[in-house]
Amino acid sequence: MEYRNLWNSAFKQREKMSVTKESLEKRINNSAFGEETKELLKECIKYESYGGMAWALFSAVPVAERASGSFVYDADGKEYIDFLSGFSVNQLGNCQENLTRIIQEQAAKLTHYFDLPHVERVKLSKKLCEKSKISVPTKVAYGVTGSDAVELAVRAARYYTGKPNILVAYGDYHGVTYGTMGLTSKGGMQQNFYPVTPDQHVGYFHMPHPYRTPNEKYSGHGMEAIKNLERGLEGKETPYSDYKAGLNNVAAIFVEPFQSSAGYYIPPVDYLRELRRICDRFGILLIIDEIQAGLGRSGKLWAFEHSGIEPDMFVTSKALGGGLPISAVVAKEDILMRWAPGAHVSTQAGNVLACAAGNYVLDVVSEPEFLDHVNEIGAHFRAGWEALQDKHPSIGWIDNLGLYTGIEFVLDRETKEPAIDLTTYVLDESIANGMLFEKGGYYYNRIQLIPSLNMDVSVMDEAFRRFDAILTRAEKLFL
Ligand code: PMP
Repeated sequence: MEYRNLWNSAFKQREKMSVTKESLEKRINNSAFGEETKELLKECIKYESYGGMAWALFSAVPVAERASGSFVYDADGKEYIDFLSGFSVNQLGNCQENLTRIIQEQAAKLTHYFDLPHVERVKLSKKLCEKSKISVPTKVAYGVTGSDAVELAVRAARYYTGKPNILVAYGDYHGVTYGTMGLTSKGGMQQNFYPVTPDQHVGYFHMPHPYRTPNEKYSGHGMEAIKNLERGLEGKETPYSDYKAGLNNVAAIFVEPFQSSAGYYIPPVDYLRELRRICDRFGILLIIDEIQAGLGRSGKLWAFEHSGIEPDMFVTSKALGGGLPISAVVAKEDILMRWAPGAHVSTQAGNVLACAAGNYVLDVVSEPEFLDHVNEIGAHFRAGWEALQDKHPSIGWIDNLGLYTGIEFVLDRETKEPAIDLTTYVLDESIANGMLFEKGGYYYNRIQLIPSLNMDVSVMDEAFRRFDAILTRAEKLFL
């Protein structure tokens, strides 16, 4: 094919993914929202980029006006059960009283101090190290967003090891800044930006998952995928190693413990154990992205704890700031001690308000009694979905640990054919019926449910009644 044709085909693909003012207006007009919300959505498309998440995850999304505990209210005052939690941020519910008070009091004392030590930041650094679940001394470095911390961790790994390559799992999400784009191996995400090569030194492997494991005879997505990764580090047929020279070019294996943005996929516990073993064998750093799965969501403080391993470094963000932007890298201290002063800086990193909020959030979500409660109501949530699965054949698989839950919809349990339209219908109807969450999945056939970690079980039970009715209608239409 000529290069000109290649370019044309790239632009044709982009066109297929884009939306128009008319198509968005149609989605807004077809929604069940009240007039105020519809007007605001029209204002939104008049002034905001179409590239935002509102039009990717939803047909149309409520315009939030306020929120309280497990509920969000739109501009017309309609109530939604909040299974989005600001995409895994509002771990303690919306506008939690103590958190709001702490932020207000801190705002009156000191709000910003550049990327320099202040009382709340020093406190938070100590706390993050003490609660790192890494048994050797650790150190912390701050960012603002999740992507920021991921970039920082990659730079630290390359600086420390002097090696270029980072290996990540297909389907992982680590951000979409230009520094992190290469680590986020999602066709749809990268598609919008190619032919730019986001990172020259990133390699990929498959994360195993129990439901979608194809025949292990071929290199599939079972633990076989990890054997293949190891094989690639042994010989001389990959850019990562040379058998005779004993050469190894890999700075780090960088993974999500569970794949969150992809659709809340939970791999077998052996996944991280095997990666730890491979990293130890070849002298590679293991970096875990706890940005979404961490901070109590899975019933343990950090998701990697389920595998009983310790990473060399991990990154955290989202829930840490209780709704304010902050991110942090926590690493074995040797890694972060090597850097010369000034090696990393960002004006808003380690912001005072976010650190004050972080000190409170971290105290709460690391309390053993709090985590026991997450596991208790997590079991209730799981049982509710299992009861729905008994009744509704479209529910093919449930991933769940604590309050980390992904539901996979299929047209047929035998063939596992993805139920894409049914999933879209379930989300649209759920929003119309006052429930807010997002959809995802490798095949666009999953919903992710992210309740606050203190959601009342009576709210969950009400949600199950609504899901039952919606699934009954959906299965009549699509199965
Ligand atoms: N890593 C993970 C696991 C994430 O879920 C996200 C955000 N969804 C990021 C990194 C990037 O964080 P941010 O959007 O704050 O840059």
